Amino acid sequence: MKAIINAKTYDFNNYKEKVYILFDRLIKKIGPMSEFNTIEKELLDKVIDASGALVMPGLINGHTHIYSSLSRGMNLPFNPKSFTEILEQLWWKLDGVLVKDDCYISAIVYGLESIKCGVTTLIDHHASGGDILGTLEKLQDGICRDLGMRGIFCFETSDRFDVEKCLDENINFSKIKNNECSSLFGMHASMTLSNETLDKISKRKGKLPIHIHLAESMEDEVDSINKYKKTIVERLEEYKLLTKNSLLAHCVHINEYEAKLLKAHNVYVALNPTSNMNNAVGLPDYNLLKTHGIPCIIGNDGLGANITREFLNLTYSMKNKYSDPGNFNFSDLLELINNSYEYVSNHLGIKIGKIEEGYVSDLIIVPYNSPTCISDENIFAHIFFGVFDRFTPRDVICNGKLLMENNAPILPFEDIYEKSVLASKKIWNILK
Ligand SMILES: [Zn+2]
Repeated sequence: MKAIINAKTYDFNNYKEKVYILFDRLIKKIGPMSEFNTIEKELLDKVIDASGALVMPGLINGHTHIYSSLSRGMNLPFNPKSFTEILEQLWWKLDGVLVKDDCYISAIVYGLESIKCGVTTLIDHHASGGDILGTLEKLQDGICRDLGMRGIFCFETSDRFDVEKCLDENINFSKIKNNECSSLFGMHASMTLSNETLDKISKRKGKLPIHIHLAESMEDEVDSINKYKKTIVERLEEYKLLTKNSLLAHCVHINEYEAKLLKAHNVYVALNPTSNMNNAVGLPDYNLLKTHGIPCIIGNDGLGANITREFLNLTYSMKNKYSDPGNFNFSDLLELINNSYEYVSNHLGIKIGKIEEGYVSDLIIVPYNSPTCISDENIFAHIFFGVFDRFTPRDVICNGKLLMENNAPILPFEDIYEKSVLASKKIWNILK
């Protein structure tokens, strides 16, 4: 049993001051510091003093690409004029040659970077053309077994790859399901999936929810309408692929009818505003999704590891998109953050995201000196403008284990960045 003492806690619902938390894998007890002296200290194998810091739940990255860590600074001819050209000139070149070792190395690097950003759960959308079979297990080895984080993985089935192997990898990996690791059925995007492939997926995936890029750019919708005379959501519905709890990334260009269909299927949408801006594909119509009651979560699409930047950018970009400073207020952002905990709770069969007894001990301790008074009424303004703006957790705990202490990851992976540099050299040489 461990303890955090002198804590100010905030879990996107409640704010408490001067409390202690007793925890192992689960939070066992929370009480006022005045009662801490009654605890039998010999029961504790560690006491962490959170004076001058906020204790919050570990964060969730709701849509990412772990292998993107190997893309940084990749020097290939790059002059895209469209979203498809970004894929062709960068991402499809990189993911096309990745093998299992690259997947493991990128998992450790991306996991460490995520831990430094206070992220303890990753929902990953993976692709690797050099090896397909066995790659999700490599991600699980890196993220869950070796780093001690939680992960929900899938392989993005695409006509670019051997489709049968993509199907096998998703189905094989779906047998792994525990409180730390689970899976979705991965699909790249409508524009790289023929009807024949959708039919095969539909016949094999059973009730597995899908994880797909949906209408990220208008090119995806135009492709669907030109080739199949229907929108993407109608295509997916025709093949009965919109299983409950599916995760649809982006949905920037869906129309009103597609939103209605999505609501009827109890799916979630993962918004990735910074990636959308970087790719110049437009921004999601959050008001459309909200009007139709479609639950959204927030990812970063592999653009770095920091998820709080997405929290900020989503807020700012939605105000700007609708030319309304009152649009997308704190209650919207809080709802999306809490949706991500609900989504992961459903998938991993745990209670995550609150600092309450019985919830998993995924906790981050974030130093914060407030220039003004904090109360339970203004705490989220402090979090948004003060904490998220320069988000530097000091300690990170997942599943009751310390993953980072005093700003340094405690796991022995000193040489992983060296290995990652060597892997990137090998990959970039192949692509020259
Ligand atoms: Zn993505």
